[in-house]
Amino acid sequence: QASSVDVPTSSGKGIENLAIIGSGPAGYTAAIYAARANLKPVVFEGYQVGGVPGGQLMTTTEVENFPGFPDGITGPDLMDRMRQQAERWGAELFQEDVEAINLKSSPFTVQSSERKVKCHSVIFATGATAKRLRLPREDEFWSRGISACAICDGASPLFKGQVLAVVGGGDTATEEALYLTKYARHVHLLARKDQLKASKAMQDRVYNNPNITVHFNTETVDIVSNTKDQMSGILVRKVDTGEESVLEAKGLFYGIGHSPNSQLLEGQVELDGSGYVLVEEGTSKTSVEGVFAAGDVQDHEWRQAITAAGSGCVAALSVERYLVSNN
Ligand code: FAD
Repeated sequence: QASSVDVPTSSGKGIENLAIIGSGPAGYTAAIYAARANLKPVVFEGYQVGGVPGGQLMTTTEVENFPGFPDGITGPDLMDRMRQQAERWGAELFQEDVEAINLKSSPFTVQSSERKVKCHSVIFATGATAKRLRLPREDEFWSRGISACAICDGASPLFKGQVLAVVGGGDTATEEALYLTKYARHVHLLARKDQLKASKAMQDRVYNNPNITVHFNTETVDIVSNTKDQMSGILVRKVDTGEESVLEAKGLFYGIGHSPNSQLLEGQVELDGSGYVLVEEGTSKTSVEGVFAAGDVQDHEWRQAITAAGSGCVAALSVERYLVSNN
């Protein structure tokens, strides 16, 4: 492991204007705006999602809802275009994970295994990770039958008109199940407990929907498939009796929540009970002046590429204002 070095900076004083952490739609959009504002941002792209920069969309095929691409675009292609755009305007990109960050006093320090950067401001855009069940055949069918986003994938030809299942019993799962009824022939909701955790209003909507069947005390055990390309069902087990059976379904949606990638900020910036970065309402300001958050790491509600990109833009414009007013 190389020892840390201070990188030469645009200001020549050893202190960068801005370090951006993350290379999803939030990080790259922030990089494009900051670079165009001549802030010469330093971007730690990370490689935590699938070992490459670009974030969650690197793990998907078609993105059909990002404006500007009427015929859709693959996730990796979209992210590569954002990356090129950030680079073209002069953002300095490092394919490194940040390992430590010190926000106790300004200038802040951001450290990877390769370098230590001092900076006047930080945009934290490290995203969130959908919780997985770790089923034996999960990797084989991830994005090819298994999804963690009904809004993203529900309308895809793989799922349209099919019998689908959602696993989970909380608000996320019930929302996914209700959303999927727009496209699916029928939706099974697989809940481990003997009741749903979702709000009363969501429960009522689920129970009143004839296109949803709720299976209580039901554990999702594995994917069933006779071919390599498409799942045909789900192996489920009754928690109370241990009885196993196969439920016919062409898709399985995980509605068991997300984990925000905010561990580096613990004890330094205010987080909510689930670990999401708390930002001042309608802004990207965190509890530490000069530190901003964008994208899924501060958004437990919408979690879309376009909302992440939008908040990256807000964060970069906020940094610009912050640096001007603090100079
Ligand atoms: P992310 O995309 O999660 O990126 C976070 C980045 O931070 C990553 O590059 C990661 O490597 C980096 N990082 C994390 N920790 C560190 C660290 N310590 N140091 C440096 N870097 C770090 N949304 C849509 O709008 N349409 C879709 O069709 C769609 N399809 C999806 C399909 C799948 C399979 C998944 C999982 C998600 C999909 N989404 C879709 C949701 C969308 O991908 C996310 O909302 C969006 O990517 C969030 O962007 P972000 O920039 O906040 O974070």
